[in-house]
Amino acid sequence: MAVKLDGAALAVKLKAQIREEAAALTRPPMLAVVLAGEDPPSQIYVRGKERDCAECGIRTQTHRLPAAVSQEELLSLIDRLNRDEDVDGILVQLPLPEGLDFRPVLRALAPEKDVDCFHPLNAGLLALGEPRFLPCTPAGVLELLDAYDIPIRGRHCVIIGRSHLVGRPLAQLFTARDGTVTLCHSRTQDLPALTRQADILVSAAGRAGLVTADMVKPGAAVVDVAMNRAPGGKLTGDVDFPAVEPVAGSLTPVPGGVGPMTRACLLQNVLRAARLRRRR
Ligand code: NAP
Repeated sequence: MAVKLDGAALAVKLKAQIREEAAALTRPPMLAVVLAGEDPPSQIYVRGKERDCAECGIRTQTHRLPAAVSQEELLSLIDRLNRDEDVDGILVQLPLPEGLDFRPVLRALAPEKDVDCFHPLNAGLLALGEPRFLPCTPAGVLELLDAYDIPIRGRHCVIIGRSHLVGRPLAQLFTARDGTVTLCHSRTQDLPALTRQADILVSAAGRAGLVTADMVKPGAAVVDVAMNRAPGGKLTGDVDFPAVEPVAGSLTPVPGGVGPMTRACLLQNVLRAARLRRRR
C-alpha cells in the first residue's frame, strides 16, 4: 500500500516554522489581497488565506471590489499597493470578473511584492534558474517530496498538465533538481505509455479519474494536484485513489495533499518578500 504523502500534517509544521520566523521580524509581514467580484470559490479561498496568515502572525488587508470595477480602477489600486511601504506582498485573486484582463493587472504588480510568482520578471527568473519566489503549487509539490525523502535527481518526472500555474513551472523546478521531465497535455499521444515510465507522476489536468492503476509504475510516487468538484460537491483529484493506492509507492490524498502545501508556500513567499524588501 502506498505511503500517504500527508500535505495537511506537513503544512502544520511549515506554518509553525513560518510563525516563528515572522515573529522574529521587527514588524510583522503584511499581505494585501485584491478580490474583485463575487465568485463564491474565490471568496472561500480568500477567507482561507486570511485565516492562514492570521495563524502565522502575518497581517492582511483585503480589498474587496465590485464585479463592475473598471480595469483602470483595479490598476490604480495595484499602483497604490505597490507604493505602500507597509505592504510586503500583493495577491490578486483570480479569476477576475468577466470583462477584465488579468494580464495587465499581473504585469502591473511590483515584482518584489508578487508573492504568487505570476509577474513575467519572476517567471523569467524562475526559467533562468534564479528564482526570487517559487510558484506556490509547484513549490508545495517539491516540499512534499523532499519531506518524504523521495529523490528527484536522475528520476523520470512525468507531469500531466502544462499550465503556467502548475505544469510548466514544476517542469522547470524538476529540471533544476536534475530530474528528467516529460510534460504531457491534452494533445499528448499515448499518455499511459508515458506515465508508466514515471518514477514521479504528477497529475494537474483537472479531470477526475484520469489516472488509473494501469497508468502507474509499481512503486512510483504519485502526486495529485487537481481539485475537481464532483456533482455532490465532494472534492476529488485526477487519480483513481483506491485503485492506484495498492500500486504506487507513495500517493497524495485529495483533499489533504497538495492543497494545504500550496497555502503554506504562499505564506513562505510573503515572509520572503518581507525579508527581501527590508534588506534593501
Ligand atoms: P488548466 O490551466 O486547465 O490546465 C490543465 C492542463 O491539463 C492543460 O495543460 C491541459 O492540456 C491538460 N489536460 C487536460 N485534460 C487532459 C487529458 N485528458 N490528458 C492530458 N492532459 C490533459 O488547469 P490548472 O490551473 O493547471 O489546474 C489543474 C488542476 O489543478 C485543476 O483541477 C485545479 O483546480 C488544480 N489546482 C490545484 C491547486 C492546489 O493547490 N492543489 C493549485 C492550482 C491548481 P492543454 O494544455 O492541451 O489544454
